[in-house]
Amino acid sequence: MEPRCSGCGLRYEREAGYFLGSIYLNYGGAIVAGLALHLGMEVIWHAPLSRQVPVIAATILLLALGAFRHARAFWLAFDLACDPPGPEEFAPPRIATAIAEPASDGARR
Ligand SMILES: [Zn+2]
Repeated sequence: MEPRCSGCGLRYEREAGYFLGSIYLNYGGAIVAGLALHLGMEVIWHAPLSRQVPVIAATILLLALGAFRHARAFWLAFDLACDPPGPEEFAPPRIATAIAEPASDGARR
């Protein structure tokens, strides 16, 4: 994951351990999906539990891995909505810095 937004320079990890909440969010979402899958398999197909467990476990694992970045983005968006960033959390975009540095070096010589 990039440390800053390439467009506006916002630092993504606003404090140490910032994305820990996104792990809980991701895990909770995967568990809810697993429970919904279990209810669906139970009600619609009347599948035995021995067949449900591997399917549900694989689904939870794949969902948790696949939604990892989305959970972080959702966590960041939720936090930015609750606590808007201050000017100290922004840095100049990388592209503008890279273009500006050679010009300043040339001007000194
Ligand atoms: Zn941005």
